[in-house]
Amino acid sequence: MTVPTYDVILVGGGIPGLTLACGLRASGLRIAVVEAQSEAQVGDRPVAYALSPLSAKIFQAVGVWQMIAPAITHFPKVVLSDADYPHRVVFTPADLGEPAVYYCAEHRVLQRALQNQVAVDPDITSYYETRVQEVVYDDPLAEVVVETGQGRHHLAAPLVVAADGMRSQLRQWAGIKTDGWDYWQSCITALVSPVQSHQDIAYERFWPSGPFAILPLPHNRCQVVWVAPHAEAKAITALPPDQFMAAMEERYGAHAGSLTLLSPPRVFPARLMHSRRYCQPRLALLGDAAHHGHPVGGQGLNLGIRDAATLAQVLVTAQQQHQDLGDLKVLRRYGRRRRLENGGVLLFTDVLNRTFSNRWWPIVVFRRRVLRVMIGWSPLRRWMLRLMTGLWGTPLPPTAEGVVAAPGGRPHTQRLRNG
Ligand SMILES: Cc1cc2nc3c(=O)[nH]c(=O)nc-3n(C[C@H](O)[C@H](O)[C@H](O)COP(=O)(O)OP(=O)(O)OC[C@H]3O[C@@H](n4cnc5c(N)ncnc54)[C@H](O)[C@@H]3O)c2cc1C
Repeated sequence: MTVPTYDVILVGGGIPGLTLACGLRASGLRIAVVEAQSEAQVGDRPVAYALSPLSAKIFQAVGVWQMIAPAITHFPKVVLSDADYPHRVVFTPADLGEPAVYYCAEHRVLQRALQNQVAVDPDITSYYETRVQEVVYDDPLAEVVVETGQGRHHLAAPLVVAADGMRSQLRQWAGIKTDGWDYWQSCITALVSPVQSHQDIAYERFWPSGPFAILPLPHNRCQVVWVAPHAEAKAITALPPDQFMAAMEERYGAHAGSLTLLSPPRVFPARLMHSRRYCQPRLALLGDAAHHGHPVGGQGLNLGIRDAATLAQVLVTAQQQHQDLGDLKVLRRYGRRRRLENGGVLLFTDVLNRTFSNRWWPIVVFRRRVLRVMIGWSPLRRWMLRLMTGLWGTPLPPTAEGVVAAPGGRPHTQRLRNG
């Protein structure tokens, strides 16, 4: 039996994984995407993400932005405030020199656009409902053992990319250790619709119990991200619907009028996790497999998208120089760049959360002084925004700008058969 052989096997067909696949389009590299869920299931997640302008540029470079842009919100303002303190920081596109301060996109919109792009590329083969069970790292190829429900099969490639989420099995099998901790907080997400128009304005309001974010979506809907200590979050979500909405409206503020709940609230424990290494021979970690942080500031997916852009660039350069894609020297170029930036952002979000989820008066006085300085002094406001958006030097993937999947192209999804 011949083992199907690729240049890269990507395990996990979520947004960072497929961004990498799209970033490698037109490189001539043969890619296999192995995803445990079905194509429909993986796109069916009732959640929306704050997307940074750098993520938008990366989506432009990989050719999916034209599909995404009409279906998402472009924020003309992001308002940052500290509980009832009346002075608020307002970020505008002028602070960045970009068309929008931030964007907000539903998971299904991003996932479908990437899936459509991948499906028509003859060099990318997608294996859905296919779970990786084991990886054997050898020279010159790593062999990936997968389970399809119809038995076990083997795939091989010089490089395996683990984009299999925070509990990455590939990372654990490879013995890569992580650092981190559980926060005392959980994160409640829900989709609501306010009576008044949200005007595409996003809010992040810090309360002593945790940040509360309102992310506007098309059709006057908003994704709410509400952070509170575990017991409080549990109690809030256990409230009868009318009391839950009353508590939400109190946090949300009077500017929106009453709210209608569109999706049942979901609760996630907040944690920080950072892999000690991003690579080893024939393996690279990507997205939540490598890092996971506090939800404040909506950074997680944005970091994963930047990982994908950087890894795409490193791999295409290595291919042009006829280097082994699984060589540690090649993979370290990716690991070094991304681990440093991701570590900085994880630390920054941790400090931000601890500084604002705090009632100790010296800290309260300090942070309110900083807010006042940010309001009056635009360089600090710009610096903060650039830090959060990553507009400092992440390379864009080397794909043709604006190449969009041809409608009706040949889908390239494959089922592995026995024998
Ligand atoms: C409440 C909350 C709010 C958030 N808000 C934001 C935000 O506003 N902005 C932002 O940037 N980020 C946000 N994030 C973070 C963001 O959701 C994650 O960073 C992102 O989803 C990680 O994507 P991933 O593909 O790396 O991992 P996942 O989404 O976990 O995907 C992993 C994929 O791998 C597949 N898989 C797993 N194991 C195997 C296997 N053995 N074989 C084959 N396939 C496998 C899974 O089926 C899955 O499809 C938020 C997170 C939470 C919890």
